[in-house]
Amino acid sequence: MLKPNLENYEETYKKFRWSDVYGELEWLDGRLNIAHEAIDRHADSWRKNKVALYLERENETSEKYTFLEMKHLSNKFANVLKALGIKKGDRIFIFLPRIPELYISFSGILKTGAIAATLFSAFGPEALRDRLKDSGARAVITNSELKARLYEVKDELPELEYVIRADEKEVKEGEVSYAEEMKKASRNFVVEKMAPEDSSFTLYTSGTTGKPKGVVHTHAAIVQQHITAKWVLDVHEEDIFWCTADPGWVTGIAYGILGSWSNGASSLVYEGKFDASKWYSLIEKYSVSAWYTAPTAVRMLMKAGEELPKKYDLSSLRYICSVGEPLNPEAVRWSLKVFGLPIYDNWWQTETGGILISNYPCMPIKLGSMGKPFPGIAAAVIDEKGNELPPGREGELAIVHPWPAMMESIWKNEEKYKSYFKGRWFLTGDRAYVDSDGYFWFVGRADDVIKTSGHRIGPFEVESALIEHPAVAEAGVIGKPDPVRGEIIKAFITLYEGYAPSEELKENIKNFVKKRLAAHAAPREIEIVDTLPKTRSGKIMRRVLKAKELGLPIGDISTLEEY
Ligand code: ATP
Ligand code: MG
Repeated sequence: MLKPNLENYEETYKKFRWSDVYGELEWLDGRLNIAHEAIDRHADSWRKNKVALYLERENETSEKYTFLEMKHLSNKFANVLKALGIKKGDRIFIFLPRIPELYISFSGILKTGAIAATLFSAFGPEALRDRLKDSGARAVITNSELKARLYEVKDELPELEYVIRADEKEVKEGEVSYAEEMKKASRNFVVEKMAPEDSSFTLYTSGTTGKPKGVVHTHAAIVQQHITAKWVLDVHEEDIFWCTADPGWVTGIAYGILGSWSNGASSLVYEGKFDASKWYSLIEKYSVSAWYTAPTAVRMLMKAGEELPKKYDLSSLRYICSVGEPLNPEAVRWSLKVFGLPIYDNWWQTETGGILISNYPCMPIKLGSMGKPFPGIAAAVIDEKGNELPPGREGELAIVHPWPAMMESIWKNEEKYKSYFKGRWFLTGDRAYVDSDGYFWFVGRADDVIKTSGHRIGPFEVESALIEHPAVAEAGVIGKPDPVRGEIIKAFITLYEGYAPSEELKENIKNFVKKRLAAHAAPREIEIVDTLPKTRSGKIMRRVLKAKELGLPIGDISTLEEY
């Protein structure tokens, strides 16, 4: 059994200073570079021949790269960019599936001091255009399959100079061949020494509540990504760490690449899509020990049943974390039953750049709570005036700013950036309450809280009660305008296999929820659907459910999984 990296939360919280972490990083004459922290300092140490990246392709072949190989490859890519005249501050986008070139080019971009940005490989032309145009991207790295979508909108992107093709030698005029240029490039590169406040990567938010925002991060973010990966995700030297998030989402960068490598762990990446059997087989094949995933993925594993995991040897697993959405208590109970391990929930946002509130291996879990503020983070629940509310009172979750990984700006939108701050508070847009033990409980996003007959109901508690019903696999809950009650609660649900939709079942589910929650918190209407609208990072898009229900415009759906 490995000892948790953080052994005493309360004591550490009391005495912690961010500067305590500085000594765990390797500074470059008082400056730093995220790629150096994640790769080069390990490549220059006894870890050089340790595997940094295990990559399982969709076609079932696999590859591995040591820290030294990653250093040389990312150096080469940095030289390729330099030869093209790419300089500090330029925005360079990666539009690739989860293949080695994504991880190599991401690190190479950072080494040059340019700003790295990722795009989900499933993005369509409009999602690409919006992001590339907004950010004035100078180069995009893509492949032959995806480039058609880019070319559909390329004429609208006057600042885009280079299209780098990661998978073909034969390139069209105006394109750069990754293979050819990498062959010519030197494997030596002097990494750009960056000021902590210099930009490192930029990422658009998930688009759950509206148009995605271009969030810009700094190189100092690694301070927080390093220590949160160590204390929250409990990443150890010995671990095979699997972060299931795509790098198109902030989790896939901050912890799928940076925080885990910074701690010197080996990371697993799977190119393909979610598939329950495949996922279990990967845990078995690679002896995954620390696993960072999302509630939606857990619910999908639950849907695949309890018998399936029994076919695999999952005994390597020792620690499981989750992020992105509230983690339903039922999901944790299920994990305890199936893996013999709880799931440790943690909360953060694209804008926060790193984990801010979390559960820790050394602290008892309260099912349904997102845990306590990370050391160095002061969090509170506040009212509209910015006053702190006492335990038990619901309000907006707010954080005292700044912290090392806090976003540096919203790209070209100073006004939006300013709107996040009110005095000493950073406003999260999420509703929550604290209990008397200091645990934080997520209620819902501000826009999603339902006002019914004078009560405020968070969709999370209703959804969590719904999925405790044996027939309900997933639930998305909205407030539907009602002349008498203000709003009524409407639930959209998907069913487990073997259950057929019927009025009787709906009544049964309503009564089931009524017994668990106050009567006014039970849904008045239930609609059974085949799927729920989700973002590419797996978040239920309640605004889409609501807009469809009310016949209103759906708004920006560039991140919607299927449409
Ligand atoms: P957008 O800002 O574009 O609407 P988004 O908020 O979903 O999209 P992200 O930055 O990826 O984009 O997600 C952060 C949000 O995800 C949080 O504000 C919160 O609402 C939700 N979230 C993340 N982790 C948790 C968690 N552990 N429990 C509850 N909610 C969570
Ligand atoms: Mg958000």
